[in-house]
Amino acid sequence: MQTIPSFEKDHDTLRKGLYARTDANGITTFDLRFKTPNAGDYISPKALHSIEHLLATVLRNGKHKNEIVYFGPMGCRTGFYLLTVRLSYNEVLALLRESIPAALAMDSVPGSARKECGNYLEHDLAGAKKELAAYLAVLEAL
Ligand SMILES: [Zn+2]
Repeated sequence: MQTIPSFEKDHDTLRKGLYARTDANGITTFDLRFKTPNAGDYISPKALHSIEHLLATVLRNGKHKNEIVYFGPMGCRTGFYLLTVRLSYNEVLALLRESIPAALAMDSVPGSARKECGNYLEHDLAGAKKELAAYLAVLEAL
């Protein structure tokens, strides 16, 4: 089997930030890197899960909802993948800079009722907001 592109990236030099790769199918995969890889600091499973619910809800209700293909967590718990079509790097950067404050303004985790989620007790809104605020600062510095 071939090594997939995300494993070819050198995780020893990867820093917090926003990275993009566009494939031949026209889908752009954004790497929302919240944490420095292998540095001992990871997003907790509860916060990771809540960020997935919060940002997916905001992105899929936002002005670019028709360009959002997927949003979800990395298994390594250092960030998230956002798959888009027809959006430039700068458009996604601007989108995240306005979507994260919208997520920070929510007072509950969307879709976290038992009928709506596969592990509805595994949420941490406060922890999610702490990670989102820290990542927003990373984006503001780009
Ligand atoms: Zn869920």
